[in-house]
Amino acid sequence: FQNEFTWGKAVSTNSIQEFHEKFEKSLDGAKKELGKKYPIIVNGKEIYSDENFTVNSPANTQIKIAEFPKSSISDTNNAISSAKNAFEEWSGMPFQKRIKSFRDCADYFSSKKFFLASIMTFENGKNRIEAMGDVDEAIDFMRFYAYQMEKNDGFCKQTYHPSPNEKTQVIMKPYGVWGIISPFNFPSAIAIGMSTGALITGNTVVLKPASDTPLSSFYFAKYLFSKIPAGAINFVTGSGSIVGKTLIESQSVDGIAFTGSREVGLRGFQEFTKTTTKPFISEMGGKNPTIVTKNADLEKAVNGVMNAAFGYGGQKCSACSRVYVQNEIADKFIEKLVEKTKEIKIGMPWEKDVFLGPIINSDAKSKFEDASKIAKTDGHILTGGSLIKTDLFENGYFVQPTIVEKLPEGHKLMKEELFLPFLCVQRYENFDDAIKLANKSEYGLTAGIFSEDKNQLEEFFSKIHSGVVYANRSASATTAALVSSQPFVGWKNSGTTGKGAGGENYLQQFLRTQTQTHCD
Ligand code: GLU
Repeated sequence: FQNEFTWGKAVSTNSIQEFHEKFEKSLDGAKKELGKKYPIIVNGKEIYSDENFTVNSPANTQIKIAEFPKSSISDTNNAISSAKNAFEEWSGMPFQKRIKSFRDCADYFSSKKFFLASIMTFENGKNRIEAMGDVDEAIDFMRFYAYQMEKNDGFCKQTYHPSPNEKTQVIMKPYGVWGIISPFNFPSAIAIGMSTGALITGNTVVLKPASDTPLSSFYFAKYLFSKIPAGAINFVTGSGSIVGKTLIESQSVDGIAFTGSREVGLRGFQEFTKTTTKPFISEMGGKNPTIVTKNADLEKAVNGVMNAAFGYGGQKCSACSRVYVQNEIADKFIEKLVEKTKEIKIGMPWEKDVFLGPIINSDAKSKFEDASKIAKTDGHILTGGSLIKTDLFENGYFVQPTIVEKLPEGHKLMKEELFLPFLCVQRYENFDDAIKLANKSEYGLTAGIFSEDKNQLEEFFSKIHSGVVYANRSASATTAALVSSQPFVGWKNSGTTGKGAGGENYLQQFLRTQTQTHCD
């Protein structure tokens, strides 16, 4: 599979100049697709509606991205029925055929990736590189899961039985209909990763994209629906309180794959499993710590923390939002981190060399204002803390990347996930304390450390309670897990199943075992 990796290659295999030239060219094509009315997809048909919601760019709300249907309970139920009807045909076909559909889709995405990434810069405000990373990751998910199906012979194998007259094969079978509820922050990678997991294993799907970013998720369903049996993939837009709730409450939905906030995820999990044991796969955020010890290479640490905290405005479940820095080097580290943060290039995300675009919407902006206000009173803001209101940015949700210290122990800003470019710093005396502080969270998604001391790294790896942990990662302390190499998995309240997306154990979650024995 290593040879098939896509993510990261867009930039590294072409020159960065070529990357930007291609990106520049693709922007015009992307702009032509903006502002239109789009349909939902149910039972192999594109269905337009008169009742739509409008998506505007978070970078400039005067740029209309798209109109998508406000689907009703009955639209959602129709999609569920169509997925149910398609199940027999889709699950019954040789798995090699399903693999082919996803390899074809991955190739199609590869051929369109500059266009898809350009759309995303407008729709969710990711910068060019991050948007391309998102599309590349989706391609990797499709190819990796195809490879996993192939490598495991469609999860079907003979088992040994000591009695010669009993022959058993153990096969894994799909459950039926899955509801896929995906977030705005990776509208390509996560929406497609979860949907591919369900579909390639033979389940059928109703995909409900985040209402901030339906267009980036639409192209996947749009490509697939005409290539696979009608109804195997359905795409339904609308609010969480109607579409999401209907999926979760439906007796005809056999599994849910969810990525989003802990609050929504836990509620969904409780509701969905109230009277059944049906599977609910979730990934639900984090409050990810990084420990910087006195033995750290400061350059690496500053770079790694800055990228992990402020890449895509901290709007990643994997973002670093807490830093624990040892007293001896704290002043120096903080000074350099603040300096680097002040140098961040903020701008329109589709433009060349912009590092930080807007945050996603007005709710996020209010959250930022509230957090900054609290930080000013209860702690000390080292940089940031305000909205950016200059002319260029007045129509978007732009905020300053913010670093705060001196919050009292256990303060809510150190505990709650904000999903903002908002980093809390705390000093510590002993390494042991740092690990305890890092673990003091209801979340356990990612964590990072910077230290040149091997024993400390070993201790960190053995004691940290997080699913994805990195040492001395200067490109980004806690974010950017690579499909196949680094399964993305949350512990504690960061996830429900403990299996990682993009890992070897992911697909089995969409399957259940059937042990078939023949006796002579
Ligand atoms: N997989 C992404 C990463 O490693 C984060 C996904 C998320 O935010 O849910 O950074």
